[in-house]
This record gives sequence, structure tokens and C-alpha cells, in this order.
Amino acid sequence: MTTSSAASKVLARHEDIRAEQEQLYQQLHQHPELSHQEHRTARTVAEELRKAGFEVHAGVGGTGVVGVLHNGDGPSVLLRADMDALPIRESTDLPYASTATSTDSDGNEVPVMHACGHDVHVACLLGAGRLLADSRDVWRGTLIALFQPAEEAGDGARGMVDDGLAGIVPGVDVALAQHVMPLPAGWVGTGAGPVLSAADSMRVTVHGRGAHGSMPHAAVDPVVLAAMIVVRLQTVVAREVPPTETSVLTVGSIQAGTKSNVIPDSAQLLLNLRTYSDSTRERMLEAVRRIVVAECQASGSPREPEFELFDRFPLTDNEPAATERVAAAFAAFFGDRATVLPQQSASEDFSDIPNALGVPYTYWCVGGVDAETYRRAERAGRVAQDVPVNHSARFAPVMQPTLSTGTQALVVGALAWLAG
Ligand code: ZN
Ligand code: ZN
Repeated sequence: MTTSSAASKVLARHEDIRAEQEQLYQQLHQHPELSHQEHRTARTVAEELRKAGFEVHAGVGGTGVVGVLHNGDGPSVLLRADMDALPIRESTDLPYASTATSTDSDGNEVPVMHACGHDVHVACLLGAGRLLADSRDVWRGTLIALFQPAEEAGDGARGMVDDGLAGIVPGVDVALAQHVMPLPAGWVGTGAGPVLSAADSMRVTVHGRGAHGSMPHAAVDPVVLAAMIVVRLQTVVAREVPPTETSVLTVGSIQAGTKSNVIPDSAQLLLNLRTYSDSTRERMLEAVRRIVVAECQASGSPREPEFELFDRFPLTDNEPAATERVAAAFAAFFGDRATVLPQQSASEDFSDIPNALGVPYTYWCVGGVDAETYRRAERAGRVAQDVPVNHSARFAPVMQPTLSTGTQALVVGALAWLAG
């Protein structure tokens, strides 16, 4: 059976669960949870997976849930959805908009919203899992539905890996994941190679020697030192990264001093780096260290600078063969709604899972914007201004055909292995 005809068989029952899936989606949207706090979502997920007949492993890496469905000999496919929401006050006019609040990791009361669409991912994967479970005569192998916490914190996937994921899901052949994006709903796109950037944030602390503002000769001024570093860092992308490669180095914050007539003791810089290859990533991080150390020496800084890396996201580098297989299945099933995904500047921690398991992966995007609204914005040249993007308080994927497309994409992607 071809992937497409198998998918059509499995999806023939989609209509029967559509209302239930929409209701589940609205509930998830109304009850968003911050990274590492996805308790309610995880309970819902575990319940739904059990009902569908999956063997369920809950509490993996905190609130992670893994559903395993064995269905005879065959390949093992892992489908992943992320579950967490963001500290944003929702300002959509959806009837199921969130009014939820929660306490963040700093102890502050914050509004919470599914502003990245992870509720779409959860609803689609639960739907796809149920449809595949209900049509076990159509495919052979093992289906793994993985729901991970804390994608927004960048450490949810890693947490599941460190908690023994490999022991729960031995012998995975391929890992697949998707994200809803501000593109026309009904649209699905993937592409081989680096589709999402790697991201690193770095805190750099440099030391001077404080003194009275009128006596600079008694000081080593960390403000001037920090300023020199900012200027010199501009040469990393301009002079050290090959011009054919996209990369970003932003100094997002400089903090030093409290008063105009006091030279402070130290300065702190916050940097953000985006890269599309591991070699460029290493090279840029090394260049930052080299420049900071050298500028500190040039200033006569009395102490070594300190570096702290945080909010790190791996590169999402779609494996060509797996991507080709999914792209061919998408083209056969979706026709001209299947397109090539252009490189995105966002970052994801999904690839930590396949990288740790040593298996190929591909990651695709589905659109979430009403197609006519999108086309109107496009005609007016106002997509960036008029279409709310992920992490916006106005981000509001249309329920359909977003949910159906995301569900279809997961079924088709999984069957590209399991229907063979
Ligand atoms: Zn996000
Ligand atoms: Zn996201």
C-alpha cells in the first residue's frame, strides 16, 4: 500500500473525532502552563493515550509523557509535540482565549498564554495517535508519541533524555516533529538541511578597578572596556564568518555603574548568537572569548573575565534522506499545499532527542493563518505588520484547517515508514 492510500484509510475516521479534537484543543488553549509546570496538560495527554491503547510512561524528565504502541514487526517512528506556554497576556478575541495566570520561576505572578501554538501540537499528536491506533490493520511497527515539557526554556528535550528516554524507547528509526507558523493554514512545508538556527545566550562579566569619576588615572574603567568589546564583537560576523553563511551576534544588554561621577568595578554584557552550522557556532563562541580576553588585557583589567552560557538551543538540521521521504509523502497527499520550508530564524530543542538517540530526524511547519487573510496581507505587502507571529499576544491560529492539516501531516509522516 502506498503511504498516501494508507493515510487516506487512517484519516477516513478523522471526521468522527473532529469535534472532540477541537474541544480538547480549546481546553488546552484555555489552560496554558509555563515551562516545567505542564502538569494538567500531561495528565490530559496520559489519559488520552491510555484510552487510545498506548502504553504510557509519565513523569519523564519532569512532566514529559511517552506513549508507545507496538503493532507487530516493523520500523519504529517517534512523533514529538511540545506542551508548554508563555508568560504573555493573551489579547486575541477568541471565545476560548486564556485568562490563566501562574507563578514563574522567579516567584512572580504572570499571565499565561499558548502564544507559540504548542496546544495545536498536542491536539494534533493526540488526534494522529488515536487515528493510527484505531487503524492498526493499515500499518506495522511501533508508534511513539512523545510529549515534551519546556521547549521555551530550551531544556525540556534534554531533561527527557537525561531521565532515561533511550531506555523507554529502544530502537527508534526516525524522529518527526512539527510547528505551527504564521503561514497560510492548510499549508505544510519541510526542507533538508539547517531549517532552524542554533541559539546561544552568553553573560560576560568584565572587571575593572573603581574610582572617583574625576580620577580616571586611578581606575581601570570597565565601561570603556565594555564599549570596546561591543565594537570589536561587530567584526565576528563581518570578518570571521564566511559571507555565504547566515549568522547573528547581538549585544542585547550592557550594565555598569550607578552614578555619573563613579567609575564602577565591573560591567556585564548579555549576548545572543544565532548560527546555522555547528562549526560556525563553535568558531563564533571562540571568537567572542578571544576578543573579550584580549580587550581585558588591553585595558589592564585586574581579573580574568567570566563567561556563562544560557538559553542554548541546538541546531535543527533536517537529515536529507528522512526529509526526502517525508517531502515525497507530503507531495503525494497534500498536492500543491506541500511546499519547501525556507530557513527560519527561530530555534528549537527538538533535535536534542534524535541527536541523543542517534537517529535521523526531520522537522516541518504547518500554517495557522486563515488563508484568505494571509493572501490579503500578502497582496498589500503587509504580512509582517498584519499577521501576528508566534510569541505575540495576538497569535491566534485558526482552528481549521490548522488542526486537520497538523493531524494529517503527522499521520502521513509516520506512515512514510510504517505503511511500508
Ligand atoms: Zn516559542
Ligand atoms: Zn514553539
